[in-house]
Amino acid sequence: MQQLVTSDFKLGIIAGGQLGKMLALAASNWDVKTYVLDNDPQCPASSCTTGYVKGSLNSYDDVYNFGKSVDMITFEIESVNVDALIRLKQEGVKIYPDPEALRIIQDKGLQKQFFATHDIPTSDFNLYESKESILAAIEKGTIAFPFVQKLRTGGYDGRGVVVVKSANDLTKLLEGPSVIEDLVDIEREVSVIAARNLSGQVNCFPLVEMEFNETANLVELLICPSTVSDAIAQKAEEIAIKLIDAFGLCGLLAVEMFIDKQGNVWVNEVAPRPHNSGHHTIESMVTSQYEQLLRAIFNFPLGSTRQKLPAVMINLLGEPGHEGPVKYEGLPESLAIDGVKVHLYGKTKTMPYRKMGHVTIIAPTIEQAKENAEKVKQLLKVKSWKSQ
Ligand code: ADP
Repeated sequence: MQQLVTSDFKLGIIAGGQLGKMLALAASNWDVKTYVLDNDPQCPASSCTTGYVKGSLNSYDDVYNFGKSVDMITFEIESVNVDALIRLKQEGVKIYPDPEALRIIQDKGLQKQFFATHDIPTSDFNLYESKESILAAIEKGTIAFPFVQKLRTGGYDGRGVVVVKSANDLTKLLEGPSVIEDLVDIEREVSVIAARNLSGQVNCFPLVEMEFNETANLVELLICPSTVSDAIAQKAEEIAIKLIDAFGLCGLLAVEMFIDKQGNVWVNEVAPRPHNSGHHTIESMVTSQYEQLLRAIFNFPLGSTRQKLPAVMINLLGEPGHEGPVKYEGLPESLAIDGVKVHLYGKTKTMPYRKMGHVTIIAPTIEQAKENAEKVKQLLKVKSWKSQ
């Protein structure tokens, strides 16, 4: 990959959200030209890529034509037309991670079957075609309360997932082919991002712990290092490595896991791309997840995943009750705090709970980072000019 540096090498990034933006910024450090495919000309990545291509991620023709115009493709979202990617691969376009892995991961049912086949601990599950078949199975006693329903495709950020604790919750059931799985008695939610380059070299970023906003069902606070025991962290890392090897995946695999009250580790789901739980790596690790992805797909040696400083990451979510052109309140006050690193994604319009940015707070100790993160949470608000 010597031709990379100061060359015309064109890396195509499918989707131009915040992950695409941060990937493009990392690529520009190596003078890699980036082209992004997205339907929205004002998508976050469009301001910092070499080229923007308008098109739908789910359109065969748009993805195919985009693939023909670049030297290599990667993606920052799962929802991409895989048939087009597979055709491009057959025609010699380099696509990392492999579209066959993406096809499995796009479907939560196939993902769970993949975990089961590869002996990866995951909560027991069955697949159902429709809401009616779920109701019939409850009637027959095949499904017992409590359980979790997940739509096999199309869900994201907690949408498409319902927890059914009793018959009273049955009105929440969603329509469509679903995974029905056992409810895990969750003590903590954690994630490990593994990386694997083309030659098969593998490593992982240290485990991160997530705290959720119950109302929005979005990660609110991310902590690294976490307080889980070394034994559990090691187990989680082993699982992440086993999974990225099992997929034979070149790139990043973010593995979301639950730790139950007994200390067992269960895989919830995986994402073959940079991940929200890896934002902090930009400031807190020797190598960021974005640089690591580039190293992996260009088959460079993977970078060190040693942590430089403890970090807490908070998502900047649109305030409830605010919809319209965005304004940020409390920015100077937040930036006055030591170790506060603000990332604004450049989305022009805010909506309740929309991910508008994130802040990484680094400090000499995790306690200090948490304390400062609390201050930032109080100070920094995403509002709209229009909804006073
Ligand atoms: P998404 O892909 O939309 O992010 P997830 O599969 O991560 O959806 O589920 C969203 C949240 O629902 C999880 O973070 C967790 O809090 C809860 N959840 C999902 N599956 C289970 C389960 N089997 N047991 C308990 N809680 C679960």
